[in-house]
Amino acid sequence: MKKQNPFYYSDDNKRYHTWNYYLKKHYQEKVFKVALNANFSCPNRDGTCGIGGCTFCTALGSGDCAGDVEDDLMTQYQKGLQLMRSKWPNGKGMAYFQAYTNTYAPLSVLKQTFTPFIEAEDVKALCIATRADCLEDDKIAWLQECSEKKDIWIELGLQSIHDTTARMVNRGHSFADFLDCIQRLKGSNLKICVHLINGLPFESDTMMLESARVLSTLPIHAVKLHMLHLMKGTKMAAQYIRESFPLLTKEQYIDIVIRQLELFPPHLVIQRLTGDGVQQNLLAPQWTCKKVIVLNDIDKEMVKRNTWQGKFYQANGI
Ligand code: SF4
Repeated sequence: MKKQNPFYYSDDNKRYHTWNYYLKKHYQEKVFKVALNANFSCPNRDGTCGIGGCTFCTALGSGDCAGDVEDDLMTQYQKGLQLMRSKWPNGKGMAYFQAYTNTYAPLSVLKQTFTPFIEAEDVKALCIATRADCLEDDKIAWLQECSEKKDIWIELGLQSIHDTTARMVNRGHSFADFLDCIQRLKGSNLKICVHLINGLPFESDTMMLESARVLSTLPIHAVKLHMLHLMKGTKMAAQYIRESFPLLTKEQYIDIVIRQLELFPPHLVIQRLTGDGVQQNLLAPQWTCKKVIVLNDIDKEMVKRNTWQGKFYQANGI
């Protein structure tokens, strides 16, 4: 019977290019990320390019769901793997270096940290979360060599293409820094996933859509879209309590996400459409805790609008 869904990069009737679809096609088996904390720091926290970090970032460097730093990295990985295997007994893991900035150290330290995972047979890939201003050419060259043995994803936090927003959230690097990094990664085997946050203070719909449109022109492989999570104890939470800036409602978020998906090329993998905050530390918005409902509502709304990822994509990349 002919498939009704106009979008084909999904096995479960989604209208966007799901991460699950990509993983299944690429590895022909169930693969999941195991989040790790390698105890790196961040130049935006230690004064190198900023102090105090991005205003939305938690004390754990946005790695609140990562492994326990008291365990060595392989122990963290094995524990995370076992936990995931209680759900998918035969699943394979990707080592996801999530907390802080995972290339913010000399190359020798990166080699020590990543080599055991590159050599390990039961690790399908490495996912390395970092910043655009922390990937020097020698690191890219070494990771490129490693990518001949193992898939390597570079996860670049961008959050917004707008420097006014970047300054407001104390991002500590500009959009030009990000573009420079993308140009230096271009042509390597490294896979690039870019993170955007929707609902940052004082960003309009037009600004969020522009971030998506510009990403759609770049040589990247995946994106993660997040709703802003105001986590207790962060600078942004304190700002919210002081100024009470507007937060997106669930309906507004769904509308923006769908319009962003329409702008992305069909081949771009969507690793996430909502984020995972630790629920007890979430100040607002509370609707983000109902992740399955948000994802289902995105699906329903896409059907209602008869739309899909790439509907308004225009190819004119760099
Ligand atoms: S770059 Fe990442 S780890 Fe550093 S402060 Fe910003 S969100 Fe936190």
